[in-house]
Amino acid sequence: QQRTCIITGANSGLGLATAKALAKTGQWHVVMAVRDFSRTEKAVKAAGLSKNSYSLMYLDLASQTSIRQFVEQFRASGRTLDTLVCNAAVYLPTAKEPSYNADGVELSVMTNHLGHFLLANLMLEDLKKGKEKSASSNGAAKPSPRLIIVGSITGNTNTVAGNVPPKADLGQLEGLEAIAKGATEVPMINGGDFDGAKAYKDSKVCNMLTMGEMHRRFHDSTGIAFSSLYPGCIAETGLFRNHYGLFQKLFPLFQKYVTKGYVSEEEAGNRLAQVVSDPALDKSGAYWSWSRDAQSFENTLSDEASDSRKAAKLWDLSEQLVGLR
Ligand code: NDP
Repeated sequence: QQRTCIITGANSGLGLATAKALAKTGQWHVVMAVRDFSRTEKAVKAAGLSKNSYSLMYLDLASQTSIRQFVEQFRASGRTLDTLVCNAAVYLPTAKEPSYNADGVELSVMTNHLGHFLLANLMLEDLKKGKEKSASSNGAAKPSPRLIIVGSITGNTNTVAGNVPPKADLGQLEGLEAIAKGATEVPMINGGDFDGAKAYKDSKVCNMLTMGEMHRRFHDSTGIAFSSLYPGCIAETGLFRNHYGLFQKLFPLFQKYVTKGYVSEEEAGNRLAQVVSDPALDKSGAYWSWSRDAQSFENTLSDEASDSRKAAKLWDLSEQLVGLR
């Protein structure tokens, strides 16, 4: 029987490559949670995926309404959820001014962190149901459900890449606190001036803090495995679409020949697919990386990305900001 995996932002880059890797095994049905159906259909056709290996559902992570509607739509499909992959992201390094969603929340923090925070919290119910169903079925026991939030080296200041300015730094979450008190159009999580590259890195720290906090709160009681990963530098994805043209040309070469951190979309997709389905990568609370010879290993997060007090505070504020309490 096929297992079901939802992947956000599955119409390009890492999300698409992972969807392809999973769908092609025949063991997974991938729900591609996307904003652009026609682009996704084209990509799926080009990849030659079979009809029963995927479906498309609309999701705009910048809208709380859309996220709640997505969850309803998924439930109405009658599928049992085995794995949720929070993958979508925006990166706005050249923006001079911040962009905000309809609620006045900056787009990197909304899309990359708060949208996924809401989605993951709502879908815990669905992952738990998946676990109960597998426990009560007579067939071979299914593996535990997984919830994966894609992280990044750039948010980890214990690495060389993470020390390229502007560095991630959530401060004491002063910006989120201000929003929780009713402010809108606060550009940065630490309350500082807008910097698009830093906003992305900060949101990735939030992703990794959320994974850790979910592990501490829910792993023992639910059996769900929570994890994060850095798949390598996939220097040619759409993530860099807002960067300068020259950067888009030189960055892949720099990563290939200087840092040697470059990975192709296909290889990165295989890595994330491994975190979805490999029995050896089912440890909860883990942050996975790959060595130069493509072997997975559990990596160490930076002090900030593993700060459990900050994670608890981020959790509290995020719950308020997405109406979970
Ligand atoms: P892409 O730009 O190719 O993929 C990002 C996806 O997110 C797109 O499908 C995009 O869809 C989607 N997305 C953006 N905004 C929204 C939204 N509001 N609602 C729903 N979906 C949205 O980049 P990557 O594949 O590189 O990025 C995927 C993940 O990998 C990200 O989490 C990124 O941080 C991470 N990562 C990437 C690395 C790299 O080197 N590229 C390195 C480390 C981590 P649309 O087409 O509609 O905009």
